[in-house]
Amino acid sequence: MPTCPILRVAVPAPLYICFDYLPPDDVDPTTLLCGIRLRVPFGRGERIGVLVERVSSSAFDTDMLKPAFAVLDCQPLLADQDLKLLLWAAAYYQHPPGEVIAAALPVRLRKGEEPVKLELAGWRLTASGESAQPAHAPRQLQIIQALMGQAAGMTQQALYALCGSCRPILRSLEEKGWVESCEVKAQCPPITLDTHRLMLNPAQTDAITEVSASMQGFNAFLLNGVTGSGKTEVYLGLIEEVLAASRQVLVLVPEIALTPQLMRRFQCRISSPIALLHSGLSDREREQAWLLASRGEASVILGTRSAIFTPAPRLGLIIIDEEHDLSFKQQDGFRYSARDLAIVRAQRQNFPVLLGSATPSLESLRNVTTGRYQGLNLPERAGDAKPPKIDLVDIRSAPLNGGLAPVLLRMLDEELAAGNQVLLFLNRRGYAPVVICHHCGWLSGCPRCDARMTLHLGTNLLWCHHCGHQRRLYHQCPECNGSDLRPLGQGTEQLEEVLAKQFPDYPIARIDRDSTRRKGSLEKILNAVHDGYFRILLGTQMLAKGHHFPDVTLVGILDVDQGLFSADYRAAERMAQMVEQVAGRAGRASKSGRVLIQTRHPDHPLLQTLVHQGYNAFALACLDERGQAHLPPFSYQALLRAEASSSEKPMLFLEAAAHQAKALNAQDVELWGPVPAPMERRAGRVRAHLLIQANHRSTLHKLLSQLIPSLGKLKSARSVRWSIDVDPQEML
Ligand code: ADP
Ligand code: ZN
Ligand code: ZN
Repeated sequence: MPTCPILRVAVPAPLYICFDYLPPDDVDPTTLLCGIRLRVPFGRGERIGVLVERVSSSAFDTDMLKPAFAVLDCQPLLADQDLKLLLWAAAYYQHPPGEVIAAALPVRLRKGEEPVKLELAGWRLTASGESAQPAHAPRQLQIIQALMGQAAGMTQQALYALCGSCRPILRSLEEKGWVESCEVKAQCPPITLDTHRLMLNPAQTDAITEVSASMQGFNAFLLNGVTGSGKTEVYLGLIEEVLAASRQVLVLVPEIALTPQLMRRFQCRISSPIALLHSGLSDREREQAWLLASRGEASVILGTRSAIFTPAPRLGLIIIDEEHDLSFKQQDGFRYSARDLAIVRAQRQNFPVLLGSATPSLESLRNVTTGRYQGLNLPERAGDAKPPKIDLVDIRSAPLNGGLAPVLLRMLDEELAAGNQVLLFLNRRGYAPVVICHHCGWLSGCPRCDARMTLHLGTNLLWCHHCGHQRRLYHQCPECNGSDLRPLGQGTEQLEEVLAKQFPDYPIARIDRDSTRRKGSLEKILNAVHDGYFRILLGTQMLAKGHHFPDVTLVGILDVDQGLFSADYRAAERMAQMVEQVAGRAGRASKSGRVLIQTRHPDHPLLQTLVHQGYNAFALACLDERGQAHLPPFSYQALLRAEASSSEKPMLFLEAAAHQAKALNAQDVELWGPVPAPMERRAGRVRAHLLIQANHRSTLHKLLSQLIPSLGKLKSARSVRWSIDVDPQEML
């Protein structure tokens, strides 16, 4: 057995390799396990790396190898299977392995710090405390009652939150022998479990049965269930089964902050500890959740995109809710798709994966057609809810009032008078997307982008949504000094103004990124919507995400036309998903729902299919078009992007890259470009693209693995910032 004295370490650096080190002088290499952290010399400084392998020989000159400075962990932070998945992802997405592995660790661990303690100071009842009857001491009684039934104890923090600061009282309870201090695992605060169970309908039962029948090995399922069909109940049923088998479940959702309801639903149903992982938490909270999951102590891991890399030694199922959602794809740095990696992880670790959506991505639908995924359908709404009735409103030459067609106004009036809630969807925040000078035609362009600055009246700013550039609102035209500046087009701020004028008696909730910027404000608005205080809801795509508004009976979609004629071939799919999701907010309970969609292209075939035959028919028509055009998912793409401060450099670099790619003589691979990016100038930088496409994933990846690591050596690479995006979702 060779001793393998050389340590191969993933060090965060923009290089496509791992680095070799010798063990620190006094350390026996055979005691070092893969997945531990090491402090290593790097360049003139030092870095924190992760041991990925011990090898007996190095490609580097062994005499030149340096010893690591220090070993930071006794136990691995990442198990072998986690490391292998990360290295696989690094290779697949053509990203430096050291950066991929570092990014998978919680922030403090990445910096080399000790893992946080999971045991917090807490209190629990003693045996005699269980039956204690403190006389005339209401606060003692309150504490005893709070601890009753909490066998593992409660953290002091949770107890204080419930009973107020109560240190002296705890002391006297302790003296009486009724409570004792203990260590309590950091985890979500306990919530009263909801023991009420819905009677599942046959489609839900079938879905659960199908997945449960193949818990023993890999299988990918697509749960295609219309909005309100009870997908969440299916997830919960499956989670209970997996937990009963003592395994862990990983559930990924698009944005937890947007769906506080969903989180609560999980907490009310699942008695095991849940590890929550999302960006709204502090670094410490995230790390605690991560450690609980990786040590197998949290049985359910509920998180957003990056939670896909959470180690979980007993993982037995991954669920991806709203699998079509763009937020599962990271759009900068390490550009991975958490949904696609979920499939890979399940396959490598041999358990099932369930993707769910009311509007599945074309990729996933195609995987069902080819038999790679098994399709499960929930074709009807759960309970008594009926599907909403959808109609197109032709607004060509209609007398619009504040952007609203007469028929929509009339129906808003009727529904409000009948005591119902209404929802209006406009996917553009701010007051107006552009300001124009009525004198000379000047437009409020962004000085740093090929884009217009949006008018935000609330903050009195012109604001570029692409680079964040802001300036105070002009009162005079910067070109001609004229004072007749006019907003052009409509955003949510303006719509709110219009509705307040039209319906002065009804409180309005506006939900967009501006109105919900402060922490907790979205939840506040949503609660007031559920209490029935707000009668009119208006907002952007934030409204489309998974909310359950039982009293909304009318949905108005103000503008769908953008999605019909975009240069991006995915725009129609996104438009349809948005329409279907927003429409799905109507009539979700006993009241039936109506949806009106305003358009200037009522005869557009895709819109017709969507409205009259539904999302699935639309998606099939769209897939057909993609197939004819050899576009994904019928082919595979990677997008090489470059940007620089001067105009010719990105094109020069991409031309050199294209030249290099051609020299590799790859079969089956096509190069498109280089061309200027659709928005050529953004944030003061000029941008260009080279699209690489192939009919087979393997040929594309063979080329990428030869091409990408060599690009850094091109002379023209020095003056540009470049990146590779495998399976790009946006061509921006
Ligand atoms: P989806 O996630 O598919 O949009 P949900 O799981 O949120 O749907 O369910 C929508 C609504 O239907 C919820 O209020 C839920 O409580 C209810 N529901 C789900 N399943 C059933 C069922 N079998 N019987 C009655 N109501 C149900
Ligand atoms: Zn002017
Ligand atoms: Zn800008």
